Amino acid sequence: VENAAAVLTSPRHVTTERRPVPTVGPHEVLVRVEAVGVCGSDIHYYEHGRIGDFVVRAPLVLGHEAAGVIEAVGAEVDSSRIGERVSLEPGIPDGVCDQCRAGRYNLCPNVRFFATPPVDGAFARLVAIEDAFAHPVPDSLSLDEAALMEPLSVGIAACRKARVSPGSDVLVTGAGPIGILAAQTARAFGASVVAITDVNADRLSFAAQFVDRAIDVGEERASARGEEYDVLIECSGSPAAFEDGIAAVRPAAAVVSVGMFPDGDIAFPIGMVQTKEIVLHGVFRYAHTYTAAIALAAAGRVDVGTLITSRHGLDEVAAALRRPREDTKAIKPLVLPQHGALG
Ligand SMILES: [Zn+2]
Repeated sequence: VENAAAVLTSPRHVTTERRPVPTVGPHEVLVRVEAVGVCGSDIHYYEHGRIGDFVVRAPLVLGHEAAGVIEAVGAEVDSSRIGERVSLEPGIPDGVCDQCRAGRYNLCPNVRFFATPPVDGAFARLVAIEDAFAHPVPDSLSLDEAALMEPLSVGIAACRKARVSPGSDVLVTGAGPIGILAAQTARAFGASVVAITDVNADRLSFAAQFVDRAIDVGEERASARGEEYDVLIECSGSPAAFEDGIAAVRPAAAVVSVGMFPDGDIAFPIGMVQTKEIVLHGVFRYAHTYTAAIALAAAGRVDVGTLITSRHGLDEVAAALRRPREDTKAIKPLVLPQHGALG
């Protein structure tokens, strides 16, 4: 078995390198990576070499939305797992800190998250991961789809925070992959009305198949339409979209902040939070979501496969990372690490 990875050496420079096969700890499994989604954070590291305080100081393997097949297991893992098809949950917490013991392992200060410096990600032929974070997927789910349990997990975490339930009217701001998956999750959780906003006509026309209302807020503010919502899930990272969404919710609505804002902080309409008794939640990644994500996707209640707009070999990672900027119809490029020539 040989290993290779696509390595970010400096902003906008990715090279394909042969690498040693990862060491597999006693509680880890070795996974042959078959599909990896390109995420906005990967694109940001590729373009800028950093996200806030996370700075790429040494060559880094990107990619954290991954699925594959277990090739080998550590000494303490049941060998019957070899050959299992799995979706990888890419943040490994320490398991013992206060946050982990409270069940909020996504907030573990010692989490090791794929493709976040200095931890390498999954644009590689082989990766090692904790046994419990390699989640089995049924045959009805392709490995391409299984890779997207990670962004779907964010949608599930957001809908859980907002307590989306039968009868909820839900507004999602931002029709990127996370927004579309949050909207689909809201539908699967029983929402009555699901609306999504964006300023990009291509994204809106794609998202329209999954929602009741696809609103171009470049033309008309969501809050100017006379429609109100019980839940706002903010996925755009746009201060104007967030403010419009806050203005469109009913009193006592739940608001969930998912998108990252380019400048970190924004001017925020706290007055409306006070007068409407809005409950504001943050979502940072997710915890305990993979079982639900796999079940929803396997049952066809959430469609992740339609989001995949291109496929690239390991030697085409840079092209995959550039695709969403070059083509507004691109939703989710996938990297297939077993494909592509190695120079
Ligand atoms: Zn912890």
